[in-house]
Amino acid sequence: MTDSASNTLPATIDTLISAGWIIPIRPAQTVLKNHSIAIHNGEIVAILPTEQALQRFDAQYGIDLPQHVLCPGLINAHGHAAMSLFRGMADDTPLQQWLEQHIWPAEGQWVDEEFVRDGTQLAVAEMLRSGTTTFSDMYFFPNVVAKVASDAGMRAQITFPVFNFPTIWGQDPDDYIRKGLAVRDDFKHSDLVNVVFGPHAPYTVSDEALQKVAMLAAELDINIHIHVHETQKEVDDEVAQLGQRPLARLNALGVLSPKTQLVHMTALNADDIELVKQSGAHVIHCPQSNMKLASGFCPVQTLQAEGINVALGTDGAASNNSLDMFAELQTAALLAKVATGDASALGDWQALEAATLNGAKAMSLEHKLGSLEVGKQADIIAIDFSQLEQQPIYQPVSQLVYTACAQHVTHSWINGQQVMADRQLAHLDIREIKAKAQQWRDKITSPKH
Ligand SMILES: [Zn+2]
Repeated sequence: MTDSASNTLPATIDTLISAGWIIPIRPAQTVLKNHSIAIHNGEIVAILPTEQALQRFDAQYGIDLPQHVLCPGLINAHGHAAMSLFRGMADDTPLQQWLEQHIWPAEGQWVDEEFVRDGTQLAVAEMLRSGTTTFSDMYFFPNVVAKVASDAGMRAQITFPVFNFPTIWGQDPDDYIRKGLAVRDDFKHSDLVNVVFGPHAPYTVSDEALQKVAMLAAELDINIHIHVHETQKEVDDEVAQLGQRPLARLNALGVLSPKTQLVHMTALNADDIELVKQSGAHVIHCPQSNMKLASGFCPVQTLQAEGINVALGTDGAASNNSLDMFAELQTAALLAKVATGDASALGDWQALEAATLNGAKAMSLEHKLGSLEVGKQADIIAIDFSQLEQQPIYQPVSQLVYTACAQHVTHSWINGQQVMADRQLAHLDIREIKAKAQQWRDKITSPKH
């Protein structure tokens, strides 16, 4: 690959990153040794052996990382960033009880713009420091989430919620949609933020509202992101009430398309899988949250065998309880083996691809993100492989998937801009973020409330 050998390349470039290993994801299953990535105007303009790169380019900023591996920034395809402020508040309870007795009352009492800003900053800092460069978010005040992401230099798909009932952010489906599209408008020129539809789940949004979302999404060419088939109970309840499985209902209402992201997807039968396959919709697998809430598991192996794109997400920190995508992709690889009795299920390359390129495909950003290739945006992370936990190194990809890597992510670039150097974030103050998180904990646990 790599050297597009064009005479039009600038001799002077913005950034040259040289590393011991590069795992570009495309071409598949490739490890480049002692190569460099040349970046100009936010884009990757060449990937070539370091010796050649040093002769050919004059970089404004150059960095040599001989003990590091470079790979595409991880893509966390599902979460609720601000819920980081509820981390560890209610553990070890099943989904329905967790939502109804703990999370919804706490949200009703505490969530406002300030909560969302402070919680999202906490989440964004954690994600950047564990190797994520793009996240998808579904929460109240998506305008605030979009601003926090943008100010931190982080890439995000911000989904605005749609519910059938009033919450702090909207009154009814029309109100949510109107406000959400206004946020989309505010960020339409952003390089980093894409605002899309986030109808919460089939059981919280009416047929009429789902149809409206589907119609507007098709008309305006906008993604739809929705929780679906999170538990067997959700499926059973809907069959009992409406005589239809949730996926069949979404299909009948026109919600399933190649622009649709279906989050969780446990309790699937052959008809469900066929509907997803025919529609070209994407699946977002959140293994740690599903395991923690005992929700079940998504049959990744079967879905991939059918050619369905499966990306990964952490879900919110209230049900995970971390936003560490390296841990998530390791869990996905391990769970796939337990679920199938097949040790080759979701192998290391497939797991890493699920956390990078598959996330980009799900968000309709495959042309820009998910692999390190000439012409794509420079969203890159560097992981220090000189640490004890990674020794000895036979296959760098095995280290990325099966050893503890998140703490060893040292540098990251998004859109060619350096957002972390030696684990220091360029745009966020960790001390202040931690102090605010503790203030929220004090308020939430204060006996006055
Ligand atoms: Zn969720």
